[in-house]
Amino acid sequence: MSNPEQDAQGHPLPVRDRIDVSAPVARPSLIGLSASALEDAVEDLGVPLRQCPMRARQLWNWFYARGATDFEQMSSISKELRATLSAHHTIARPVITDAQVSNDGTRKWLMRLTHGVEVETVFIPDQERGTLCISSQVGCTLNCTFCHTGTQPLVRNLTADEIVGQVLVARDELGEWPLPGEPAPTRRITNIVMMGMGEPLYNFENVRDALLLIADGEGIALGKRRVTLSTSGVVPMIKRTGDEIGCMLAISLHAVRDELRDELVPLNRKYPLAELMDACRNYPRVSNAKRITFEYVMLKGINDSPADARALVQLIKGIPAKINLIPFNPWPGTPYECSDWETIEVFGDIVNRAGYASPIRTPRGRDISAACGQLKSESKKKSAAELRRERLAAGA
Ligand code: SAH
Ligand code: SF4
Repeated sequence: MSNPEQDAQGHPLPVRDRIDVSAPVARPSLIGLSASALEDAVEDLGVPLRQCPMRARQLWNWFYARGATDFEQMSSISKELRATLSAHHTIARPVITDAQVSNDGTRKWLMRLTHGVEVETVFIPDQERGTLCISSQVGCTLNCTFCHTGTQPLVRNLTADEIVGQVLVARDELGEWPLPGEPAPTRRITNIVMMGMGEPLYNFENVRDALLLIADGEGIALGKRRVTLSTSGVVPMIKRTGDEIGCMLAISLHAVRDELRDELVPLNRKYPLAELMDACRNYPRVSNAKRITFEYVMLKGINDSPADARALVQLIKGIPAKINLIPFNPWPGTPYECSDWETIEVFGDIVNRAGYASPIRTPRGRDISAACGQLKSESKKKSAAELRRERLAAGA
């Protein structure tokens, strides 16, 4: 077997010529492409130009409306084209390596993407809605001190197909695809929140492409109002989020003074509160019908006083907003505790009396570590040598 770090004579290759064994060698995926990119991909396979839009539409329908997992299932596409498609492309989904169900019905899946890289995706069923919480990165470069994901260094950004793939796998697991000749089952996923692992605005292009597809009426068809992106405050990307995605925006606020926010959300040192609030005021199409959600994790004795609540109201003045109070979810080794229930209620009342909805988010899935900020996978950044050893051992 050839060594990717040596030439045919066994001499070491210069670094730039080595084969990157950590890069996926699989055929490129057709999942996650925009409609026009899918047409281009079909054209590249030699399909006559005038047929490309129709073929792309058929594929799109098989991927997102019917949940096909294999080109062979696509009965409306000729055998030859199916063979060409599978010789050049894949539509493989992430693979579930662990599944847990909480006693409150919350489900958490650990999904394997490429070799050694895993992310967590969570489904939270409620009376009239079902929310799927998806991840944008494996690990996170930021280190918010109260967040478990923040203790896992960034392994890598997810690609658009891996982000969309989490939704497709969840739909498989929840039995959401129509069976041939039967009416479509009721959709259990009604909302998508990008609040899993990672900072989505540090992976903007992939997140944008995936969320557009998830919202698109011809794609997964949830609609932009049912898709929420949560950011810790990457100010320069907030306008682009509104312009290019147009989804609902959630800001992880957690503190109303720079000094405290610098500590809890260290990104604040780069983009302080005044800049963050300006970006929110100017969020494209923000209105009373399309409010910004401010997330505020309740940390005992740290950010939960009535004075903090009053300062919060002042800070967001003029921004159509709703405040989501999140009881802190503990994780092993954390120095923080959750505020007492009564303290959270007093805080919420002050915000509410100032005219802002301030629901307290019921913790869900705590028993399986599926609640906000508890997600973390074992994936670590591996060296090329480690990956190669693993591949050889697996006979790949
Ligand atoms: N990185 C993005 C999205 C993922 S975090 C962001 O920070 O917005 C999703 C939400 O959970 C954020 O508001 C985050 O601050 C919050 N969170 C993180 N750790 C938490 C914990 N231990 N308990 C409760 N909420 C937490
Ligand atoms: Fe990253 Fe968000 Fe956790 Fe902060 S709260 S460490 S940005 S995942």
